[in-house]
Amino acid sequence: MEKKSKKTKKAEITGELPQIPLTRKELKNLFNYHIPCLCCGREMLHPDIYMSLMEKKELGGKASDAIKILEPFEDIMHPVERQVFNMFKTMAVKYPDKNFKELLNIKKDVHELALVKIQSSIFNKVSFYRRILPKKMARQLRKLMIKTNDIIFDPEPHKPFSRRIFIYKLKNIIRNLENKSVKEEIIKIARRLPRSSDEVCAFVVKNARKKSEVIALNLIHPAVGTFEHLTPKCMQGLNNSLNFALECSYCNNSRHHYPIPIQIEENPYMPQNAQIQADKLIALSKKGICNKEYIENLREVLYWLSERTIDLNISQLYII
Ligand SMILES: [Zn+2]
Repeated sequence: MEKKSKKTKKAEITGELPQIPLTRKELKNLFNYHIPCLCCGREMLHPDIYMSLMEKKELGGKASDAIKILEPFEDIMHPVERQVFNMFKTMAVKYPDKNFKELLNIKKDVHELALVKIQSSIFNKVSFYRRILPKKMARQLRKLMIKTNDIIFDPEPHKPFSRRIFIYKLKNIIRNLENKSVKEEIIKIARRLPRSSDEVCAFVVKNARKKSEVIALNLIHPAVGTFEHLTPKCMQGLNNSLNFALECSYCNNSRHHYPIPIQIEENPYMPQNAQIQADKLIALSKKGICNKEYIENLREVLYWLSERTIDLNISQLYII
């Protein structure tokens, strides 16, 4: 507290930026109170609890032992991860001595086929654009698609398919395309390629290559609470609570550096979820756990960055 008052005085004297409403420690403390994610509305896990789980060696051992450790966190798992966890629970009865990696490898072939089916239908749609792209781009797209098909149709590819790299290469090929709406259409189709967080088959295929303890942690990682930079760091966003929102690591990672209106497009319930978070923060402020200034600043920043789509009602904050 002493530190804080010194900072305030300094700011008053020098006329610096507005005072930082909450320290990182104070902000992190909010994760102790079942805060829902600003974007998806799901409950988040305190990052320190996740850190302590990272030290549990049993997660790399028999599935039945790992399941016991993870069971208390089943409720906060995201849908795909929870489905995989339930699959592990069923399989562990049949194969009591196997670990998560071995269990995933039993299922891998079936899930890989399912994944390739989804991927190839999307690749077909992307390939269609060869007909309307300028010749050079069409040739580059053909090359990329041949290489990609080689990877996904090979049961043991030299390098596994990476959705992220594919989209990156695709964007690069069409970066100078003048027709913006075609450009957006192509990327939109490519974004439908399943991620491990969207489809059980993609989770199984991606994680079957990983160590058992990593697979175990990946089941809960999407729910870990993070500080989201509302204005991205790369756009000179501040690195303190004037620019931080509490978001699960899944939403934080999926946003990349996109502006908030795009994040809302992908998550149409974000404005309602942001209000639910704000209501929770207001309730905590009445108990002296969160301060008014943080909530007021969050309202203001979200309002402008979302182009007025997120208009939080914080009137309860002023009712005693
Ligand atoms: Zn979220």
